[in-house]
Amino acid sequence: MSENAPESGLEFSVETVLTHHGRVPDEQFGFVNTPVYRGSTVLFKTLDDLEGQQQRFLYGRAGNPTTEQVTQVVTLLEGAHDTILAPSGLAAVTIAILSCVSAGDDILITDSAYEPTRSFADGFLKRMGAGARYYDPRIGAGIADLIGENTRAVFVESPGSGTFEVQDLPAIAAATHARGAKVIVDNSWATPLFYKPLALGADIVVHAGTKMFVGHSDAFAGTVSSVDEETSAAIEKTRRLLGFFTAGDEAFLVARGLRTLSIRMAEHRKRALEVAQWLESQPEVSRVLHPALPSHPDHAVWKRDFTGSGSLFSVLLRPAPRESAAAFLDHLRLFSLGYSWGGYESLCIPVKPERMRTAVPWTEEGNLLRLHIGFEGIEDLKADLADALERYARAR
Ligand SMILES: *Cc1c(COP(=O)(O)O)cnc(C)c1O
Repeated sequence: MSENAPESGLEFSVETVLTHHGRVPDEQFGFVNTPVYRGSTVLFKTLDDLEGQQQRFLYGRAGNPTTEQVTQVVTLLEGAHDTILAPSGLAAVTIAILSCVSAGDDILITDSAYEPTRSFADGFLKRMGAGARYYDPRIGAGIADLIGENTRAVFVESPGSGTFEVQDLPAIAAATHARGAKVIVDNSWATPLFYKPLALGADIVVHAGTKMFVGHSDAFAGTVSSVDEETSAAIEKTRRLLGFFTAGDEAFLVARGLRTLSIRMAEHRKRALEVAQWLESQPEVSRVLHPALPSHPDHAVWKRDFTGSGSLFSVLLRPAPRESAAAFLDHLRLFSLGYSWGGYESLCIPVKPERMRTAVPWTEEGNLLRLHIGFEGIEDLKADLADALERYARAR
């Protein structure tokens, strides 16, 4: 969005960065897109070249021209010092966390985090002797009371996966920095077009590039961007030690997706909000969890810190047995039932926060469904949901 340009400190608007940066046609015989580079070995001409390590590319695992165009664009969009690519969004999360946390350390994670982020903390960090504690996503400056001597990082995901609590990042960042710990933000929902965590105090921003960056449900990738040289070096070292890299084929698809990110996000934003507003007026709906709706409890924080909203929100249906949820989900004609999100097609999936929440138990009654609004005709989507709500009511 061009209105983001002044804060971002970019010479150009983000639309121009997305369309023009990261690619150098003169180095590719004039072809518009940087092609897929596949390669492990990179050749050196002399022993001096080999030992000097000054060559632009040294070994395929450390990157190639296809991966570099993605990291350059994301670095500019996030206003970061640097960005690395990871093989998936989850790998981006694990690299970011492992760059801060060692045995004996401790990390605070929002209770609203993406479930596999929690599984990594509980199933891996704890095994290596690091602590992971969960906090109320609405804690704000109160995070100060939880930060202990060994706390190295606070993990923020805003809005939360499935439940869409918006976090007070500036307050969390101020309290965390005062205790010398780092703030990691999962920014997959808003993308850097609508939320700039580094400008609001974060040190590290991760993306599930699989979602909005790729945009077509056909590739996996993650990115980790960092605010300064020291943080970037710790992240790159962690990536290198773990052996994580992203192949040229995947990076090509991320780059291709990024070229149209601003127009896709503008459409997703408009459509998701329209469907969310329409759902609010439906009798089977008790609540729509979309931060851009004035009815959302964190609407004011969202309005203060974000410049737009994403494709994804949840709807809480009035309490009804599992058969009602099945009646809703099993006969959808356009919405499909499946994991992930960010593609051109609409998706719907049940969410069960009561099964994982530990800091703030989820007590809301009713069936919670997460919707991703794609590019089908908007009236067709509403008709699909209207039929589903009717089936839901009949099966109650
Ligand atoms: C999907 C997702 C991830 C993980 O991305 P993958 O590419 O599927 O590993 C991380 N964070 C959020 C918020 C996500 O939705």
